[in-house]
Amino acid sequence: MNMNDGMPYMLSVEEAQERILAMFQTLDSERKPLLDALGQVLAEDVVSTLDIPPLTNSSMDGYAVRHEGIDGATHDFPMELRVIGYLAAGQLPQQEVLDGTAVRIMTGAPIPPGADTVVPFEETDEYEMKALGISPLEITSIKVMKDVSMGANLRPAGQDIQKGQMVLKKGMLLRPSEMGVLASLGRDTVEVIRRPVVAVIATGDELIEPGEPVSAGKIYNSNSYSVAAAVLRYGGIPRVIGIAGDNLDSMNSKLDEGLTADMLLTSAGVSRGDYDIVKDVLASRGEIDFWSVRMRPAKPLAFGVFPSPDGKKVPHIGLPGNPVSALVAFEEMVRPAILKMLGRFDLEKPTVRAVLEDDIVNGDERRVYARAIITHRDGRYRAHLTGDQGSGILTSMALANGLAICPEDVQVMKAGEEVDVQMLDWPALGLNP
Ligand code: AMP
Ligand code: MG
Repeated sequence: MNMNDGMPYMLSVEEAQERILAMFQTLDSERKPLLDALGQVLAEDVVSTLDIPPLTNSSMDGYAVRHEGIDGATHDFPMELRVIGYLAAGQLPQQEVLDGTAVRIMTGAPIPPGADTVVPFEETDEYEMKALGISPLEITSIKVMKDVSMGANLRPAGQDIQKGQMVLKKGMLLRPSEMGVLASLGRDTVEVIRRPVVAVIATGDELIEPGEPVSAGKIYNSNSYSVAAAVLRYGGIPRVIGIAGDNLDSMNSKLDEGLTADMLLTSAGVSRGDYDIVKDVLASRGEIDFWSVRMRPAKPLAFGVFPSPDGKKVPHIGLPGNPVSALVAFEEMVRPAILKMLGRFDLEKPTVRAVLEDDIVNGDERRVYARAIITHRDGRYRAHLTGDQGSGILTSMALANGLAICPEDVQVMKAGEEVDVQMLDWPALGLNP
């Protein structure tokens, strides 16, 4: 697949995405404690071994009664019942409710035998007695002031989940609600698709690491941080390997460190003509294409596979060096690959239609991803560009919560037109208004 001679391919965004995705598979599964699996995809069908709720119980604080004993009760003609017991959640009923009797019952407590209805406190003289200073355990009889319907305020056993029922299916995403369902079944571990390990290598002789003293002619390696953070955000485990210099030895040794990962990301050294050493190393050790993708920013991109020491093939995406390009290429090309490895089906980015507030000019028939601030005003989304769209202006990305898309075949989109916007943040967390 090494086509790195002469002009790189000019691929559409979709072609590039398809070729990349074709090289990734859903990963194998792992068993994890529940809370550690948030955001991962279920790798087992979950069948309940329990009824939930296990016993018919009360959905209100009140009195468990036989309906025939309160039939016709009104405020003016209340029915008086003898209180024969008290049931809190977690307790099992001891007495049977017979005609003319009631058991004081708390929400979640099992309905005692004989009872078929719960009358809430509000429909009794409970509060009047409390107001008189009578403590709940001293109440020996209660007046029911309303004929609540037969079976009212009962939660039948198995109402939510029945024993033997398939409750969650393989492929579902574990969100807080699925965690709750698993816990309610008594599960404390769960089988999920494991998270991909993504090796991140920055390349360039000009780079120094944050934390080092400023040095003339050098710049701080920001890509490793933005890219590793994006890996984390979309569910991968970043393994930051550091900076490879623009020379064979350095590139080779960093590559060796990255080859036990599920995916290898490099930044820089993929634009045409410069730093051929990076391309040479990539091409000689793996099967690597250098592509041009019909998009702005992030036109240059490398993609291929490296043989790993244990005989696997590790897919590699060579991100462009410009900080904005690296992140936009990540969103469009790396994010779907991570999600596919995670077993996710929803690979598309969430998109809204917004009214443009600035023009987007498209000089060379590429798909433009313009950094924009999306707000919702007067019933519509609005996209305001974040200023200079140069691919080195990382702050324009930091200000944005969406990417407004101008299609390849449109030369200019005017303020006032509608535009598709891929959301980067939803809602716009932490952005200044
Ligand atoms: P290159 O693709 O190597 O020509 O790099 C393109 C631009 O991105 C140059 O201005 C580089 O200095 C810059 N760049 C490359 N790598 C990084 C990085 N890790 N952090 C910040 N800027 C970078
Ligand atoms: Mg470079």
